[in-house]
Amino acid sequence: MSSRSGGGDPTESILARLVAPGPLALFFDYDGTLAPFAPRPELAVLPVETRDVLRALAGRPDCTIGIISSRVLREIVAFVDLEGVLYAGLTGLEIRLTSGEIRRNPAITACRPALQDYARVLRRELERFEGAWLEDKEGALAVHHRALDPARVPELRNRVGDRIRAYEETLRLESNAFTLEIWPRVQMNKGEALSALLGETIASALPLFAGDDTNDAPALRRVRQLGGIAVGVGKNAPDAAEYLLESPQTLRELLERVARARAP
Ligand SMILES: [Mg+2]
Repeated sequence: MSSRSGGGDPTESILARLVAPGPLALFFDYDGTLAPFAPRPELAVLPVETRDVLRALAGRPDCTIGIISSRVLREIVAFVDLEGVLYAGLTGLEIRLTSGEIRRNPAITACRPALQDYARVLRRELERFEGAWLEDKEGALAVHHRALDPARVPELRNRVGDRIRAYEETLRLESNAFTLEIWPRVQMNKGEALSALLGETIASALPLFAGDDTNDAPALRRVRQLGGIAVGVGKNAPDAAEYLLESPQTLRELLERVARARAP
């Protein structure tokens, strides 16, 4: 894949910016960005080499690492399993600082009754769609349809869209490549999450965000507004990405080169 910002090897272009002197704030989506996709979310483990390079970078005084995921916070913390890292779970509704302090958006509790109610409706709907299943993330819901017959995906998407109308005041629907997600209707997305985490880093840090899917677009746009580096990973990466990398492995190799180039 080539860079969208004028040809050439995107790895070399990104590297040139990341090895320049000055602090870095490196933010990543998890699934499909750091961890390769798996048939089910619980199988999407972080490769050992990726954890090693993130640990090395997070240990540097001039580098902050942050993970921004739509997964539940405790789950993303368990999967990444690194201390000294910033985490945003549920797309920023939950945040864990490097001190371990956790901040939860009150919308999680406020919207819980509507989410539980809509989950019951969805479970009945999904009985007719073999291979699709519902994940209850407490502060959000996800309908996974990776294993559904692709010919039936539009029908599923229409059904879920129709049924959410009754909950429109409290909940909103978000459409991603292999999931439909149902979120509290509050001003929160990965761009807002990125800004919140950036507030916890060195003020002059050069930010980077890497993501692979539709819900990463707000963070990619935000990082560009801030003069940072917007990296898309894989073929579903949003147009908001300035550079495109082929896979989580390409991203990991880039980070290994950054760690080596900035080694003391
Ligand atoms: Mg992803």
